[in-house]
Amino acid sequence: MKPLGPIPAGFSAIDGELAIAGRKASALAAEHGTPLFVYDAGLLTARVGALRAAMPARLALHYAVKANPFGPLLAHMAGLVDGFDIASGGELEIVCTAQIDPVRVSFAGPGKRDAELAAAIAAGVTLNLESAREAERALEIGGKLGVTPRLAIRVNPDFDLKGSGMKMGGGAKQFGIDAAKVPELARRIIAAGCEWRGFHIFAGSQALDAAAIIDTQAQTLDLAARLAEETGAALPKCNLGGGFGIPYFPGDVPVDIAAIGAALGERFAVLPDVLAGTAFCIELGRYLVGEAGVYLTRIVDRKESHGEIFLVTDGGLHHQLAASGNFGTVVRRNYPSAIATRFGAAVEEEASVVGCLCTPLDRLADKGGFPRADEGDLVAVFCAGAYGASASPMLFLGQGPATEILIQPIH
Ligand SMILES: *Cc1c(COP(=O)(O)O)cnc(C)c1O
Repeated sequence: MKPLGPIPAGFSAIDGELAIAGRKASALAAEHGTPLFVYDAGLLTARVGALRAAMPARLALHYAVKANPFGPLLAHMAGLVDGFDIASGGELEIVCTAQIDPVRVSFAGPGKRDAELAAAIAAGVTLNLESAREAERALEIGGKLGVTPRLAIRVNPDFDLKGSGMKMGGGAKQFGIDAAKVPELARRIIAAGCEWRGFHIFAGSQALDAAAIIDTQAQTLDLAARLAEETGAALPKCNLGGGFGIPYFPGDVPVDIAAIGAALGERFAVLPDVLAGTAFCIELGRYLVGEAGVYLTRIVDRKESHGEIFLVTDGGLHHQLAASGNFGTVVRRNYPSAIATRFGAAVEEEASVVGCLCTPLDRLADKGGFPRADEGDLVAVFCAGAYGASASPMLFLGQGPATEILIQPIH
């Protein structure tokens, strides 16, 4: 039997069934069909509240939209966080549709097309510049539009976030501008008359080790101070990146945000003069939304092959690519999952939960321990609030998207 990942806090059982925001899984599935992504608005609110309580008041919180761009979820986040980070013109349209003020939005990501730059500049979005050439194109487009572009420079730092699942800095990267070249470019765009918005320094993603995050934030502040000195201009804003991970796999433990907040508070108390007036933020995706989402899928077949049990569901990797182990993981390990219609029941057998796609990659749980489940039972895959619906190949095999819902808790 292979272990399953840890089920996040905030879920309980009602009548022996998984309850999400106080509603039974079977009732949600009956009302909305399966496969279904359910996002619990109460858990989102609680998560942002706990993070705010742990971080220094001076630190603004941004949400990285690519983790989950579902409209109702974004609208809910708009009342909780200070800013939004987008990474495409499509995400710009999504935040505008969600009625989010573009002044709260910054736009990072390589390969921004002219039309995307123009739309962002016209709306008043801050551009996190990824190259010197992109800086020139932004200035030119601002000139043509008669709008002063708001420009920040994304720095490719000389360090990375230790232990992170995805490294986004350190060495040759398609992201950002090498730190050594930043001061000259900053002087150039300030002289050209942009609205200078400072630095964006993102070193990695999905880290659970607080010590590594603390170390990276300290290095980030040192780098920001040095680059601001060399630029010779006050630094209005500094985005310190993010990287806070969530426990997906057996043995993972939650990141210690109290330790990170305390260390950052100490650093903020002794900032060098060049950062005295700087507004700081972090940008987080999965940490804010990942654990608030559950993917529900129904078992359509139960079969045995060479002595192994397969629970075949109506969902699969076309909605939950990451849970199948095919999105940025080297070794496949099991996400947290459960038989939602027998939640909390004792383990009775070893079974693999597979999807309905015609590929052996489509496995949501590999040889996990579950209570006995049959046709009609529901499977819950947890940690489905980030990089699920929008980061999976929903068109594969003509399957199409899953339904998504955001629900408020019943009191
Ligand atoms: C992907 C990304 C994020 C969010 O990463 P998470 O691991 O979901 O927190 C934040 N900032 C940038 C620039 C990104 O590319």
